[in-house]
Amino acid sequence: RFITLEGGEGVGKSTNVAFVEAWLTSRGIDVVRTREPGGTARAEAIRELLLDPAPNEPLSVDAELLLVFAARAQHLAEKILPALARGAWVVCDRFTDATFAYQGGGRGIDTYRIAQLEAFVQKGLSPDLTLLLDMPPDAARVRLEGRLRDLNTQRDRFEQERVEFFMDVRQAYLERAASAPERFALIDAAQPLQDVQMVLGRVLEERVAQ
Ligand code: C5P
Repeated sequence: RFITLEGGEGVGKSTNVAFVEAWLTSRGIDVVRTREPGGTARAEAIRELLLDPAPNEPLSVDAELLLVFAARAQHLAEKILPALARGAWVVCDRFTDATFAYQGGGRGIDTYRIAQLEAFVQKGLSPDLTLLLDMPPDAARVRLEGRLRDLNTQRDRFEQERVEFFMDVRQAYLERAASAPERFALIDAAQPLQDVQMVLGRVLEERVAQ
C-alpha cells in the first residue's frame, strides 16, 4: 500500500512521517520511507535544481512543474514501484497532491495540465491513503521560525514567497481533500503533537485493519 503525507511548510510533516513509519514497523509491516521531490540520487539532484534560488535566473513556472514530474518519474521507476511490487508499504513525504497545491494553487498552473502529467507519469497509480496535516500558514510560520533559529541550514521558504502563496497552497490542499474524501484524512496540525499523533494512530488503525 501507498501512504502519502502532505501539508504546507512548518506543519510537522517530517516528525509525523517518522511517526507513521515507526507505527507501521512496530506492527511488523515492511515499510519504505521516502520523500518528494527526491527519493533517489537522480531525483534528489532534480530537487537541488528545484530549490536552488538562483536569483539571476529564476525557474520558470512550467520548468518547475516539469522538473517535479521528472523527479517523480525517476522516483516511481527506481523506488516506489519496485517496493510496492514486492509487497512493502511505501510512506512518502509529499507526492502529487503537493504539485496540485504548490504548482497549481501556489503558482497558478491550470489543474487540467497537472492532471495530464499525472496520468502520463503515474499511469493510474495513486496513493491509497493521504494524511493531510492542515494548519493556518501564519501559525505554521511561527512554529518554523523557532526551528530555523536552531537549524540554520535550511532555507526559509517563507521569506521567499508572499503570504498569499501559502494561503493558496493551503486552499488547494483542502480542495483536493474535499474532492477525494475516501482517500484523504484531514488532520488538524495546530493541535499539540501528541494529539496529532493520536489521530494519526487512529486513522492508521482503521486502514491497516482493512
Ligand atoms: O517537504 P519539504 O520541506 O522537503 O519540501 C521542500 C520545499 O519544496 C518546500 O519549500 C516545498 O514548499 C517545496 N515544494 C514545492 N513544490 C512541490 C513540492 C515541494 O515547491 N511540488
